[in-house]
Amino acid sequence: MAHHIALIPGDGIGKEVTPAGVRCLEALARRPGLDFEFSEFPYSCEYYARHGQMMPDDGIETLRPHDAILLGAVGYPGVPDHVSLWGLLLPIRRAFQQYVNLRPVRLLRGLTSALRDRGPEDINYLVVRENNEGEYSDIGGRLYDGLPEAMAIQANVITRKGSERILDYAFRTAQARPRKQLAYATKSNGIKHSMPFWDEQVAAMAERFDDVSVEQYHVDILAANFVTHPDWFDVVVGTNLFGDILSDLGPATAGGIGVAPSANINPDPAVPSMFEPVHGSAPDIAGEGVANPIAMIWSVVMMLEDLGEQSAADDLMGAMENVTHEGRVLTRDLGGTASTNAFTDRLLAELKG
Ligand code: ATP
Ligand code: MG
Repeated sequence: MAHHIALIPGDGIGKEVTPAGVRCLEALARRPGLDFEFSEFPYSCEYYARHGQMMPDDGIETLRPHDAILLGAVGYPGVPDHVSLWGLLLPIRRAFQQYVNLRPVRLLRGLTSALRDRGPEDINYLVVRENNEGEYSDIGGRLYDGLPEAMAIQANVITRKGSERILDYAFRTAQARPRKQLAYATKSNGIKHSMPFWDEQVAAMAERFDDVSVEQYHVDILAANFVTHPDWFDVVVGTNLFGDILSDLGPATAGGIGVAPSANINPDPAVPSMFEPVHGSAPDIAGEGVANPIAMIWSVVMMLEDLGEQSAADDLMGAMENVTHEGRVLTRDLGGTASTNAFTDRLLAELKG
């Protein structure tokens, strides 16, 4: 049976790296028993310029029946970030309750870390970010605007249900990995109500996973340790804001923005999860054909894993790491001279074996 994939290439280099991901899937689909059907949607800032919205009113319902969504990047100079965010990404994440944001932080063989003397054996962890609630709530407001007494109040909403489901996912993920270690970000020494509540949810969940070792870190020292001791970490879970920051910091130490993948997951197979590179539309290099497709192709690997196609995922990831290890065909951001297509050609040759 074919997996139905919704493609949203988006803007800028999103439109250059998405075809690279599709080429990999098409190559894998030559194998017996594996097949994909693609539907492409032009939802983007370009679409916004023509229609005044990022996607049509029925966009969510159009996407719903797919098994997964593969997104390139959205953004265009002059279109404010909140338009692309609130007009496309957040509605998709919320409508499909993609409450897990996953970012692997793993230094591929052949790539150089921004951390001195650190190699692939030191950097291999997974950041699990709560993606639906927490610090990014709509609750709050301003008082006394324009007066000396002016103030703004912003609520941090940590619900029991929201924490339980993200923690359950994080613990299960840690349990399935060889090290079975979970570090969690908190700040209960400074944030007096919501963070102690979060800590309590972690403690309660820990009782159900007695084979997973749990460590608490305040987010400030956790961030520092990502730089000084990346080898300490296996799975790291955080609330929305803390997870957001950590999941940008981590990949920055593992080859940078051109290689960083992400997934927005709802484990319920009834709704699609969404896979996307961490990077944006990169207008400065868009149209040149030089964007690094690794972040997109790694996102495709995560999609294959989520679809239950583990061996296809392993083969694609293995082939990609052989190409980075060989180091002969790399894009400009990694010190090479290859185009997006040249890298993908080399990868597909490697995949064929
Ligand atoms: P947006 O407004 O859509 O977020 P951006 O310019 O902020 O786009 P980022 O993803 O934040 O894009 O990237 C910052 C810079 O990193 C880009 O301008 C580009 O130079 C570089 N970059 C990002 N992604 C890639 C990639 N896949 N390959 C090569 N360089 C990249
Ligand atoms: Mg950006």
